[in-house]
Amino acid sequence: MPEPPNPVAERVAVPAGTTCATALKAAGLPSSGPEAIVVVRAPDDSLKDLTWIPDVDTDVEPVPMFNPDGLYVLRHSAAHVLAQAVQDLFPEAKLGIGPPIENAFYYDFDVETPFNPEDLNRIEARMKEIIKSGQRFQRRVFSSADEARTELASEPYKLELIDDTSGVNRTELMEIGEGELTIYDNVDRRTGETCWSDLCRGPHLPSTKMIYGARLLRSAAAYWRGSEKNPQLQRIYGTAWPTRNELNEHLQRLEEAAKRDHRRIGEDLDLFTFSAEIGRGLPLWMPNGTIIQDELEEWARQTERRLGYQRVSTPHITKDALYYLSGHLPYYQDDLYAPIDIEGEQYYLRPMNCPHHHMVYRARPRSYRELPFKIAEYGTVYRYERSGQLYGIMRTRGFTQNDAHIYCTLDQAKDQFLEVMRMHDDYYRALGITDFYMVLALRDPANTDKYHDDEQMWQDAERITVEAMKESNIPYVEDPGGAAHYGPKVDFMFKTVTGKPYAASTNQVDLYTPNRFGLTYTHSDGAEKPVAVIHRAPLGSHERFIGFLTEHFGGAFPVWLAPEQVRVIPIMPDLLDYAYKIRDVVLDAGLRVDVDASDARLNAKIRTAVTRKIPLILVVGRREAEQQAVSVRYRSGDEKSMAVDVFVEHALDLVRSKSLDGAGNLRPTGDKTPGDS
Ligand SMILES: [Zn+2]
Ligand SMILES: [Zn+2]
Repeated sequence: MPEPPNPVAERVAVPAGTTCATALKAAGLPSSGPEAIVVVRAPDDSLKDLTWIPDVDTDVEPVPMFNPDGLYVLRHSAAHVLAQAVQDLFPEAKLGIGPPIENAFYYDFDVETPFNPEDLNRIEARMKEIIKSGQRFQRRVFSSADEARTELASEPYKLELIDDTSGVNRTELMEIGEGELTIYDNVDRRTGETCWSDLCRGPHLPSTKMIYGARLLRSAAAYWRGSEKNPQLQRIYGTAWPTRNELNEHLQRLEEAAKRDHRRIGEDLDLFTFSAEIGRGLPLWMPNGTIIQDELEEWARQTERRLGYQRVSTPHITKDALYYLSGHLPYYQDDLYAPIDIEGEQYYLRPMNCPHHHMVYRARPRSYRELPFKIAEYGTVYRYERSGQLYGIMRTRGFTQNDAHIYCTLDQAKDQFLEVMRMHDDYYRALGITDFYMVLALRDPANTDKYHDDEQMWQDAERITVEAMKESNIPYVEDPGGAAHYGPKVDFMFKTVTGKPYAASTNQVDLYTPNRFGLTYTHSDGAEKPVAVIHRAPLGSHERFIGFLTEHFGGAFPVWLAPEQVRVIPIMPDLLDYAYKIRDVVLDAGLRVDVDASDARLNAKIRTAVTRKIPLILVVGRREAEQQAVSVRYRSGDEKSMAVDVFVEHALDLVRSKSLDGAGNLRPTGDKTPGDS
């Protein structure tokens, strides 16, 4: 997506007693089109409607529609129009909440029956009428909570929001702010009559007619305020953009994303499945998906072996004592599953592998000669995720991480961390992932109280981390306030082919845990010193990473990862023997191969193989049989004849070099395919 133009930075003076709209008009700023100023930013940093009248002379910052804040207001206003349209057509519908979200908006409704696609079409048509009629969004302040209660007596969910004094998520709600209760009326511009109203803190566009490119996307069930204990509502999602062009571009991106959705491809290619009897968020890896896991794992093993890692295996359930030592108990109890009682002792499913690896380190006295000590494990962990948060294999309740920990001296830590970054770089480039960067999460300078208060430790960890990051030459951005309470961290982020950011792995130079766990080594001078620990998992977890790769390649995995690498298709039934002969040769060379022995016609067989995204299709006819040859059909559609032994060498070479030729054959919009890089 192109970067939006620079925000209109200059400030506009609004005299006391004048509306912002008047002042903006006098300043010659646009009031229609995608450049239109839709709200202003007041000196206290709050956003105000253009109808706002300051009591004293005030400088405000004009916010155009294309600016992120402007888009937010546009989408929030579109959400109001959606709710108005729904209540016009379904007067019995009760309103939940309706916020803008990234690139979109939604509104929740309590209705008897879920909305169907035809309902959505009708609602969208009604929205268009409201937009066209150019209703004004008009702010009104309630004199008291009682007045609000009386006016909203027929909206039970809004009443609940008014009465919710807990303050939980209050600042996140669009409905109520910190101060006075306000309502927004949609007012007919000719008659001045109020057409519809919603409890809301605003601000909003001046008029519905500024919503040029809006579209409803889908509806889905959602619990009131995200809790399974509450009633189930129906959520309608939509998207809105300043221009029709931007709307169409966005819809194209969504279509591309749907084609690449790992849940759909995972089903089509038989990579994984879920079972109601086993439970939500607990994937079953099918034979095809397991092949991809095994290939990635073998790659990681080889890479780690070369860098001096040793493999360990540790248990999935563990006594509470370890988690009191790590601090998971009692502080992170909510992320853990309830304990299992074994002979009066409490055992937990492990949420991470780190404490186990620390115990491996601690099992023997360690000398400086053993450092760096690197241990790796594809370790399975279990974390509590609410069912509403589960997402295919990308967000599950159990997953297996490409985990390792490096125990080293403080002096070695920078080079070790640099080695970890280079490892990420090598892995990602080999997979054709070139659009990645790092995020350095640091302490929030404005709020240092919430961090562990060993200043020397923080400075050491930050210095080592930043030095290694700079030396790696991988671009990075800083995230003040994103650090863990005990140290900085570094996330690797990808921009996916559909433009979404994806957090691939988290890394840390950890100088805090060694003290907590008593992880030391004997220095050459005989003194006991704490080690530094480096946490890393460049390939994430199998679940998340293979989910990502499935979308990245659109299911067209490179030959080395493809579950079925070669498919032999005989042109006629009497060539089946020759086809099996080829299969045996290819199989013995160590490749994954199958024969299509079905009665289907040749074209249908090729189509099936193409749909299964098999990278190398061998079509064999009589001439090939006579010449001990095969005709290779690539994903590109190119065909090439070659002798069987030449083909085997060629295929092995594609595997050994982890070639990306033909991988990711779904061409992303406005981006190059991984194979092009
Ligand atoms: Zn609102
Ligand atoms: Zn760790």
